[in-house]
Amino acid sequence: MATVERPERAMVVFAHPDDEIGCAGTIASWTKQGTGVCLVLCTNGDKGTEDLEMTPDRLAQIRAKEQRDAATALGVSDLVMLGYPDGELEDTREFRGKLVREIRRFRPQVVFTHAPVAVTRHNHHDHRICGAVTLDAVYPYARDPWHYVELTRGGFQPHKVATVLLWGGDNPDVFFDITETLPTKVEAMMRHHSQFGRPNRDPNRQPGDFMREGARRQGERAGLQYAEAFSKLEFRV
Ligand SMILES: [Zn+2]
Repeated sequence: MATVERPERAMVVFAHPDDEIGCAGTIASWTKQGTGVCLVLCTNGDKGTEDLEMTPDRLAQIRAKEQRDAATALGVSDLVMLGYPDGELEDTREFRGKLVREIRRFRPQVVFTHAPVAVTRHNHHDHRICGAVTLDAVYPYARDPWHYVELTRGGFQPHKVATVLLWGGDNPDVFFDITETLPTKVEAMMRHHSQFGRPNRDPNRQPGDFMREGARRQGERAGLQYAEAFSKLEFRV
């Protein structure tokens, strides 16, 4: 099993409002201990409803507010929303450049994102693209000055990220104890009210039960009560 030291600065790059929940317990624990965290939300989540009375514009506004509230619950004040349409994230120079800019600006030692590949289940299109483009942005584009040289010349100096942690992969090897911050993770999830605010079909189940069960299952693999699990990629710095 691998380990990761708590860094000075960490960044989370995620596709939709609420996907940051994949590492929210770890983020809440780290911000409490003094780590600076930046959340980079790639799409506006404007397709995330079955309600045909809702409009994409209105939903995007609701979800942006929910995302700000969830960030606050996690102790994060640096939130960047790139605003791409939900379901339409593509591997383009423009999108990669926006991630390079944020990495060079915030200069995190650790970056969290979606695992771009999972063989044992289907992975949402935006999750795959977000994970793959984030990895590319980390290496080589953020660290080499002649990539996005217009950013380099504009003051965004190259930066070397040491570690990327992927959630949702097939074989996680890093487990963080989130026993203390599980309630904060559930609270952050509940701030995404448009996604998780519906009453449970089963009256015996509490909101957040499925999240507790997931954290318990991950914890079991590492001898912890509740955990979040990641696959670790290391880069030479
Ligand atoms: Zn998502």
